[in-house]
Amino acid sequence: MARFPLSVVPAQNYHYGGIKFGAERKKKDGSLRTHAACDLVAAPGTPVVAVEWGIVLDVPKTPFIEGTKLYSVIIEHSFFIGRYTEINRDDIGSEIYPGATVQEGQYISTLQRNGKGGAMLHFEMYDKSSAGYLSQPSNTKYKNVPAGSYGRRSDLMNPTPYLDQWLLWTVWL
Ligand SMILES: [Zn+2]
Repeated sequence: MARFPLSVVPAQNYHYGGIKFGAERKKKDGSLRTHAACDLVAAPGTPVVAVEWGIVLDVPKTPFIEGTKLYSVIIEHSFFIGRYTEINRDDIGSEIYPGATVQEGQYISTLQRNGKGGAMLHFEMYDKSSAGYLSQPSNTKYKNVPAGSYGRRSDLMNPTPYLDQWLLWTVWL
């Protein structure tokens, strides 16, 4: 029992290109960073909802990406932690705060317009076999995913199969 985190089909297929999990991207300093999420592209303002029942772990006061208006909410679900990012801080629901229980499908916030004029949900998953901050810039060891410079906690998961269960990828063909 679970559902997709958006009420719409993403405008682009998250199996391909730079928006897929594992895509290699060049950072400003020239180093390579491996994409740690699936990007679900949709219009700014699109509602984001909880994929399953869970407990809110954190609603960080600082942006997910420094120097932007792209914020995040971290929710502990039964078998994983979900980090819902690039959302609008001003639209975060009043019932979304650390320690709060959320139901499947409960409103979290909306997609925030990014610097390129579009919007996307950058959705990350962790299997809860590790502890500490989800972002760990220097980490290189991962249990569930191929080697790469994700800069994330070691229990990072590829969200693609999970998301596919509720949204057949063939809808983009
Ligand atoms: Zn992303």
